[in-house]
Amino acid sequence: MSGTPGEHDAPADPAGFRPRIPAAEWDDWRWHMRKRINTLGKARRWIRLTPDEEKAVAGSAGKYRWSITPYYASLMDPDDPTCPVRLQAVPAPGELTEFPGSEVDPVGDMYYRKTNRVVHKYPDRVIMLITEACPVYCRHCTRKFHTTDVSGTYFRDDEGGSFDEDLRYIADHPEIRDVLLTGGDPLSYQDARLEEIVSGLRAIPSVEIIRIGSRFPVLLPQRITDGLCEMLARHHPVWLNTHFNHPKEITAESAAAVDRLLRHGIPVGNQTVLLRGINDDVTTMRTLMTELLRIRVRPYYLYHCDNVTGVSHFMTSVEKGWEIMEGLQGHITGFGVPQYVLTTMIGKIPIAQPYFTPHPDGLLLRNYRGQEMVVDAAAYPITEPDTP
Ligand code: SF4
Repeated sequence: MSGTPGEHDAPADPAGFRPRIPAAEWDDWRWHMRKRINTLGKARRWIRLTPDEEKAVAGSAGKYRWSITPYYASLMDPDDPTCPVRLQAVPAPGELTEFPGSEVDPVGDMYYRKTNRVVHKYPDRVIMLITEACPVYCRHCTRKFHTTDVSGTYFRDDEGGSFDEDLRYIADHPEIRDVLLTGGDPLSYQDARLEEIVSGLRAIPSVEIIRIGSRFPVLLPQRITDGLCEMLARHHPVWLNTHFNHPKEITAESAAAVDRLLRHGIPVGNQTVLLRGINDDVTTMRTLMTELLRIRVRPYYLYHCDNVTGVSHFMTSVEKGWEIMEGLQGHITGFGVPQYVLTTMIGKIPIAQPYFTPHPDGLLLRNYRGQEMVVDAAAYPITEPDTP
């Protein structure tokens, strides 16, 4: 059709381009998947690429995938290469730079993998990596080797094979009460295939909750259809965690997608990654958290960016994370404050600075304004009394 993303080198015109796309196509997630932007020619329709971006796209050929939905591209500033949406989606030279200590799997997904898809790191819960596919290949993906690296994968066997071994492992371990479907993005599957997987889990009596990790509400909210939500609601309790990183990503469409999930009884949480140049300042992060609350998404984790090969250029210092947490705690309502964690081989470790220190008289407390007080151990015992 005319007016759809093409291969031609036309000047970037997102403002005039989007309204020319008929609503029936813009509202159809499959249209966006078919029209994903993955060549320089297509990208030039949306943004004015810098020489660095062009070089990075050329340099990553054969190494890293890239692909951007027209919806997500429509959020990019065509003239600003520091646009926080653009930085998450368009390849950058930093991806090809070696960084000390970087690894393809610093959190140990491959180490803890028990079957082709099941990663069993904590006793009572597992993750199931059910796909390598994503609507957008986020440049900061912590599983970049699995999702974005052309020759990388965590799968031992093909993604499309049988799930029997994976489901049997979960059934054989009744201590597993919580299964997180992740990938890649699980909602890349069509509803019918996804329902087969979810039904397979629901048939295991010991599985109490099913969680889905998906960035579709951010990257292509049209995917969150009533049909999908109705299907998931047949298998409750189902939870969904998504991944907003910047207030620009909160749009009428993403808010409507969240609303559809909530109306079907699916609680929505958010996991933000702390990313240099994207959200590493207090004002942005405070706006993000309060905007999430406004659309009824509960901030859950703030991940320190992992030192993943091809991602390290997004890492900030831990001190920067502390500064941001100090700018959130007490300044916005408590349930808008995510837990700041570092994901490691031994699990997720909370790394926010404490608001108390031991004191000879009890505990020295500090509030969000820096005011201090001592709570007396005589009034608030710190330790349990000795038992006779
Ligand atoms: S959608 Fe999620 S899994 Fe896929 S590339 Fe983005 S961060 Fe990685």
